[in-house]
Amino acid sequence: MSTINSPANSLSDADPVYDLIVVGSGFAGCMTALNFLEDTKTQGKAAKVVLIEAGKDGERCGASRWTPAFFRLDKNNKFDSHFKNEMKLVSNGLADQAYCEKLEAEVPSTVKFLLDHGIIVQHQDERNVYLGFNTGQNFAKGEGGGYAIILKLFKHILSFPNVDIMWETNAEELLTQDDGTICGVKVRKNDGRFAKVFGERVMLSCGGFEGNREMLSRYVGPRAEQLGLVAPGLKYNTGFGLKMGLQVGAATAGSFHGLHCELVDTRSSKPEATVWGHSFGIVVNEHSKRFYDEGNRSLFATCEVIAYETWRDQKQKAYFITDAPIMERFRPGWVYDTTDLDPEKGDTIEDLAVKLGLVPQELKKTVDEYNASINGKEFNPMALDGKSTFGLTPNKTNWAAPIKVAPFYGYPLTAKIVFTFGGLKVDLDSRVLSTTGTPIPGLYCAGELSGLYYNESKVASEFGILNPPCNSALRCLTFGRLAGKSAARDL
Ligand SMILES: Cc1cc2nc3c(=O)[nH]c(=O)nc-3n(C[C@H](O)[C@H](O)[C@H](O)COP(=O)(O)OP(=O)(O)OC[C@H]3O[C@@H](n4cnc5c(N)ncnc54)[C@H](O)[C@@H]3O)c2cc1C
Repeated sequence: MSTINSPANSLSDADPVYDLIVVGSGFAGCMTALNFLEDTKTQGKAAKVVLIEAGKDGERCGASRWTPAFFRLDKNNKFDSHFKNEMKLVSNGLADQAYCEKLEAEVPSTVKFLLDHGIIVQHQDERNVYLGFNTGQNFAKGEGGGYAIILKLFKHILSFPNVDIMWETNAEELLTQDDGTICGVKVRKNDGRFAKVFGERVMLSCGGFEGNREMLSRYVGPRAEQLGLVAPGLKYNTGFGLKMGLQVGAATAGSFHGLHCELVDTRSSKPEATVWGHSFGIVVNEHSKRFYDEGNRSLFATCEVIAYETWRDQKQKAYFITDAPIMERFRPGWVYDTTDLDPEKGDTIEDLAVKLGLVPQELKKTVDEYNASINGKEFNPMALDGKSTFGLTPNKTNWAAPIKVAPFYGYPLTAKIVFTFGGLKVDLDSRVLSTTGTPIPGLYCAGELSGLYYNESKVASEFGILNPPCNSALRCLTFGRLAGKSAARDL
């Protein structure tokens, strides 16, 4: 950490002192910059802002430019009111309840802000898959995904004359005054040299540490580097935000060994080639053995832990197996077609096993045992249908449809990281808290860099989930917005 007595001591007359420095240009950073610019303009102040971004101009850096941006919203743009309870349950009470309640209360204003700025929110009724959200089987998505949202937000940001953008600039250290007040950032420019950027307030919104193998190994554990990135932009999220916060005494939140990962098609090079429909067949390991209750809860409630266990216990190799009725029911559609490749196909289970590189007799034995253990209830993907197995380890609790009708289908799967959980602790105005619980003067944080989710493995295996999906984009947008407003009030 560079300590200076005051910004003036290190400044030449030519150096600007920004009112707000925003590090990272994803959902959180863009929302902070834009809300700050708009609110200070309303206050009649031409506050000067700089947006510092490690990626290149025009590049899809970070997570936000790759997400499809699915939102856990009902038709009236209200956030799922069960989310806070779900968070309490799966974190074993560790997740910040006040934060989750604030998220729920503020989401409608966030969506209104997006709509007012030309972003289109599309609503979709899901008629084939039990979502497990309290949104009336509705979910929403930003039209054009996260990339379109960022382009729109940037257009508005660039309409302000009082904003500078520094591309290809990696923020690496916070500058502080002797009393601990934040007064700028030390950055590494694309020529490899350091420079100092001075400012009254710094917003850290530069993502998690999924792009840093050393930190992944240190926090998540051995072999974490085997988890590939679900999208290429994540390589920029190298954990500098966390390092910068820790260096100035920030408190932390979230599980540092936790992460959100998904099962993607091993054969595909497409970003987020996720195979979502593990719930409607069986998933086996390289020895053709089932290892997880694929029907424990809803598809979204189990997608994370089955991926996590594939990495942790199954050498990163899993195989989804199903038959013709399931494929005909769900394809085409997002359940199996987020990957760009057709499934492997066989006229018999043994043929399919050969295509997937599994031992035919072993897969046949597993499928036969599974088929023989299913109860007589009706298969219904729109409810937790209780169509389960008995006598297997593990049993399948719901949607245990038999795998009997040729052709048989399968996807080889592996786990890839979407984001890490451990981050900085913030208050409800997105101010970073020190280890003593007081806000660090001049320091804000939002987005994935602010910790929220907890990896409680006992709860995870019971309830199948750590981070209830389709909330993250909204939380980054919402607390980014609140940070911008809070910083503007503070001016
Ligand atoms: C493929 C994919 C699908 C997803 N799907 C969903 C979904 O459907 N619904 C949902 O709710 N969530 C989803 N998520 C999660 C959600 O998109 C992210 O949580 C959110 O976009 C993160 O926003 P952010 O602003 O915190 O970080 P980011 O968007 O990652 O932005 C951080 C920025 O900081 C920059 N940066 C990093 N380090 C530095 C540094 N030291 N100096 C300067 N700049 C730096 C990066 O280049 C990046 O541009 C998905 C994520 C991915 C990757």
